[in-house]
Amino acid sequence: MKEKRVLATFILAVAFLGLIFLLAHRAAASSARCLPDALGVSRTLELSAQGGWQVGLKTYPRTLALDDHEIVLTFDDGPTHTTAKVLDALAKECVKATFFLVGRNAAAMPSLVRRQIAEGHTVGHHTFSHPGATLRRLGEKAAQNEIEKGFSADDKAAYGAAGAAPRTPFFRFPGFADTPALVEWLSARNIAVFGADVWASDWQPMTPEAQLALVLARLEKEGRGILLFHDSKEQTAAMLPALLRELKQRGFKIVHVKPGAEPPAMQAAPQGWTSETDKIIADVFAKETHAGRKAHGVAPAPQAQPAPAK
Ligand SMILES: [Zn+2]
Repeated sequence: MKEKRVLATFILAVAFLGLIFLLAHRAAASSARCLPDALGVSRTLELSAQGGWQVGLKTYPRTLALDDHEIVLTFDDGPTHTTAKVLDALAKECVKATFFLVGRNAAAMPSLVRRQIAEGHTVGHHTFSHPGATLRRLGEKAAQNEIEKGFSADDKAAYGAAGAAPRTPFFRFPGFADTPALVEWLSARNIAVFGADVWASDWQPMTPEAQLALVLARLEKEGRGILLFHDSKEQTAAMLPALLRELKQRGFKIVHVKPGAEPPAMQAAPQGWTSETDKIIADVFAKETHAGRKAHGVAPAPQAQPAPAK
């Protein structure tokens, strides 16, 4: 009887020590991933999306109020095979970003979505299938379904279940191709729309070196803003470690956005602002018209939007 008790105590003690060892090892491993002089996050905005709002000067005449040299990192279109590399680079610098997921990718690679959540990133939404024709061509109901299906697939991948509303009420339109009706619908659902202030233009193929130089030049010019990348792009994943080192050296600060209770502080666009994205979308539609839109059976292109009044 006594021997049994001694044995049980011994087993418990071994299990306890094993647990301590495991926890210590894990803590050491996670802090070891961070560089000693890591870029880190300088502040976190816990934003309420109540009533809906839209930010990002490429599309909207306002953006988040950021200080000089403050940037918000955002990555679209994942998760894909290059996402892990992006996450490794962010982890090394203790930097948090926002990922706007494509629902069908999230459903295909849920472990990457769970890793994003576990590592403290924000997981926003970017439709279910990222329609090539953009949501402008889908018609109201089909576009809403694309968005809803995306919310649901992302949350199922991230948390195992999806509720009536997405846990993170942040959305980005594919190709920035919004419509007034969809923006109104999202606002009524208390969902915020993120455009961007600075593009990496990483949809254009270039070497990682050229990509790095382009982003740094644009950041130096704009000085701050919501920066758009694609974690689906190899050139972006490849240059990210060097970019984050360079941002640290140049005194840029990372602002992390996540859902919360603060109404966002906004910065109005400078005088003479116009939407850059509307011009681009109109050009794409015009080119498609030449390519024989009827053959694809898609709806007629909307009228190019007039430039907003100056
Ligand atoms: Zn996209």
